[in-house]
Amino acid sequence: MHYTGTLYRNPYEPPSPLLEITQGCTHNKCKFCTMYRDVPFRPSPIEWVEEDLAEIAEYAPDTRRLQLIGADPFCMSFERLDRICDLVHKYLPRVDTMTMAARVTNVMNKSVEELKILREKGMVEVNLGVESGDDWTLERIEKGYRASDILEQCRKLDEAGISYWMTFLNGVAGRSHSHEHAVNSAKIFSQCHPSVVGTGGLTLFPGTPLLEEARRGEFDPLSEKEMLIELKTFVENLACDSAFITHHTISGVNLTGPDFLGRKEKIVAALGSVISNGDMDRLAAIRGSKRNL
Ligand code: SF4
Repeated sequence: MHYTGTLYRNPYEPPSPLLEITQGCTHNKCKFCTMYRDVPFRPSPIEWVEEDLAEIAEYAPDTRRLQLIGADPFCMSFERLDRICDLVHKYLPRVDTMTMAARVTNVMNKSVEELKILREKGMVEVNLGVESGDDWTLERIEKGYRASDILEQCRKLDEAGISYWMTFLNGVAGRSHSHEHAVNSAKIFSQCHPSVVGTGGLTLFPGTPLLEEARRGEFDPLSEKEMLIELKTFVENLACDSAFITHHTISGVNLTGPDFLGRKEKIVAALGSVISNGDMDRLAAIRGSKRNL
């Protein structure tokens, strides 16, 4: 198999073969991320994709589900993705589910009609690393789009029947804008129809511009308690009829599962309890031990 640099697979997906179709990230500028800094973006050569499909067909010919990997493989043109779908079906005729990571901007170069064709061919779900729905925050972290773009592109996915995950990055606005980040993100997410809302907590990794800014006093990171308060504010304002997943390390409290709206009150109460009684030093130690996103 051809794999390049950092490999990221969605840990919540069922085990499935990983097919690399792009290398690196088209954007590569988000201030909290170094995952693909040393890997220039390029689509994987079609011959590599075909060789890898032939290899998967040898050891798992009945594969029904594939994760297409790369930082944002959905960036590719409709024509190229369509060609990849046809290759997948040539080698793995039983595949009916292809998922991949995507930036909001990846949807822009495709019409709803084109998205419908990709959906029909098995590209049924994308994982949108949205991070925030607050314009100040999106600009601050150099995400490369605005809240209005999120609404516009998610409407296209809704119309095409492609389901999508949306992620909220807890803590990324820093202390000065924490409340607005939480409330405005919840407001934008709630106008979309994600199948899953996921949340992750900001960790300042070595080499990230945000860590350098924190060292210079230009970015004021939240404490563990403030992170939880922000997450609680986000959840209180969120009205998505979706599943809810959090990477937050709150021991003994399971916030992850289907039916967010049905569980919302319990999640808010659990967060309130951890804010009042949780061991913040332990949470900080867990975050400090993380090595990558
Ligand atoms: S967070 Fe995603 S879009 Fe931003 S630089 Fe990292 S891989 Fe690229």
